[in-house]
Amino acid sequence: MEPKGIIFTPGRVQAIKQSPFLDKKRGEETKAKRHPQTRRFMFMRAEHDQRGLYDGPVNPEKLETKDWEGVTRFVKESARKMGVDLVGIAPVDRFDFVQGTEPPQGHDRGISFAIHMDFDEMKRLGPLSQMEVHRVYYRLSDVSVRLAQFIRSFGYHAVGYPNEGSALFIPIAWKAGLGELGRHGSLITKEYGSSVRLGVVTTEMPLVATSAPANYGFDDLCLRCNACTNFCPGDSIVPKKQEVFGTVRWHVDTPTCRPYFEDYEGCKVCLTVCPVNAQTESAPQYKSLMKGLMHRKIPIRQLIDEWREEGFKEAEKFGEGWNDR
Ligand code: SF4
Ligand code: SF4
Repeated sequence: MEPKGIIFTPGRVQAIKQSPFLDKKRGEETKAKRHPQTRRFMFMRAEHDQRGLYDGPVNPEKLETKDWEGVTRFVKESARKMGVDLVGIAPVDRFDFVQGTEPPQGHDRGISFAIHMDFDEMKRLGPLSQMEVHRVYYRLSDVSVRLAQFIRSFGYHAVGYPNEGSALFIPIAWKAGLGELGRHGSLITKEYGSSVRLGVVTTEMPLVATSAPANYGFDDLCLRCNACTNFCPGDSIVPKKQEVFGTVRWHVDTPTCRPYFEDYEGCKVCLTVCPVNAQTESAPQYKSLMKGLMHRKIPIRQLIDEWREEGFKEAEKFGEGWNDR
């Protein structure tokens, strides 16, 4: 069912696939307006990778214990102290890695963790929102480096992964019980809806894995709700589940998503409009955003363009006075 206030014309599918990012000038403008603090977060994250900090030496003094449940609790608690909002342990294998890659030898456990985004920033489109995305990605990368090093100090090999690395964060998070896969192809958590970003550390340490993926009924909700599909400017969210690499699941058409993702500096319209956000502490902000959107009787592409313009105007008010939280 189409949401009230959104006009779907017969030519929409073709029109929305004409990527705004094909407009080179617009693409350059988007990049040029990236906030300096965003560039700093990107610099620091790139440093982690370039300096090889996701991996390192293992303490030769190995911890021997029969209380792996206690060690698991301790590792999870330590991850929380490092700043993550959600953490779980999952078994991992080569299917949790990009095709053609594998986990390091002996690594059969993944520590999956999430940090939530500030919904006030998440709901914008443009430079300030992107700064929030990169703030959270930097913090996740920082935790990956520190948590892997922490585990290696117990005499067990562990590595962290950059966001664009070989580990598939969503399936590992799903198995670790952090949330369910939504129609928009991202994780939906009970605590923060879709306003989270993920990180992973894999290890040979025999941590105790979560017994089963979470079931909060979000999959049923997705069967009845079309918000993300209807608001997606790229028409990229496939309305029915599909078989992907032998598993029937929700699927996002990456080639049509990518240009919009680039144009809006990390689009995330699908995550923002997800009604599970109304069941979290971000409910007031979510409701006011949706009220504004549903009242506009204009085509979705134009609506989102206006949304983006507002984001750029808001960003112009911000100078260098912005501080990390
Ligand atoms: S990120 Fe944007 S273009 Fe991509 S699936 Fe989500 S709403 Fe659609
Ligand atoms: S917007 Fe609706 S259909 Fe899309 S992921 Fe959220 S609940 Fe599921």
